[in-house]
Amino acid sequence: MPGLYRDEGIVLRTIKLGEADRILTIFTRDNGKVRAVAKGVRKTKSRFGGRLEPFTRVELLVYRGRGELDTITGADIVDANTGVHRNFESLASATVMAEFVEKITPDREEASPIYHLLQLGLESLGRDLGPTVLPAFMVKLLSVTGFNPELTGCAGCGSGGFLGGFSPSLGGAVCESCWIDDPEAIGLAPERLAWIDSLLAADFGTVASVGWVEEVTDLLRRYAEFHLERPLRSLEMLRAV
Ligand SMILES: [Zn+2]
Repeated sequence: MPGLYRDEGIVLRTIKLGEADRILTIFTRDNGKVRAVAKGVRKTKSRFGGRLEPFTRVELLVYRGRGELDTITGADIVDANTGVHRNFESLASATVMAEFVEKITPDREEASPIYHLLQLGLESLGRDLGPTVLPAFMVKLLSVTGFNPELTGCAGCGSGGFLGGFSPSLGGAVCESCWIDDPEAIGLAPERLAWIDSLLAADFGTVASVGWVEEVTDLLRRYAEFHLERPLRSLEMLRAV
């Protein structure tokens, strides 16, 4: 229903609108993913200043009208997450996190676990907790959105025997015979599976970095893209560097 509401949110993305305005995609704590207009935000003397930049966590006052887009009427910084701007790699990783959250969540559906996960992921990037932060975020987000990968038994037949592959369509590790049945399955050594499992269970930055961080990140990307049915473009850009 139309009216004002208060919420806390993290800016995922902003796009220009007309001469002075922006449309923001914000993931909020209580209202889920919301799209809103910030009027005059691109003017030098904007009352919002730099408070509505991507990855900034803000306390918001928002007007919800009858249309699809809300209007931001007030914003105060809770945490600018300035640490993510410390280098290209962490900024690019933050962009991947924001894109992934934007693509995997529906509009206006409360999901505070995703909100807290995103804030924790951005904080961990900002604190330079190492290259495992991004794949850990990806597997945690997949898990919290209902795509928890099966890693200990075969996702096809339930067998607990040797698992040498990963099937995006079956949703996890697969035994050799299920792997043969799925042309899309990807070869993956068992120690990688165990490593993904530890990323899922452990706090950010606590799992030792290993030689297969990129391989696992790529696997999680393919698994995510299978469910999203579209690419995670910012991750492709990160890999292109
Ligand atoms: Zn199987």
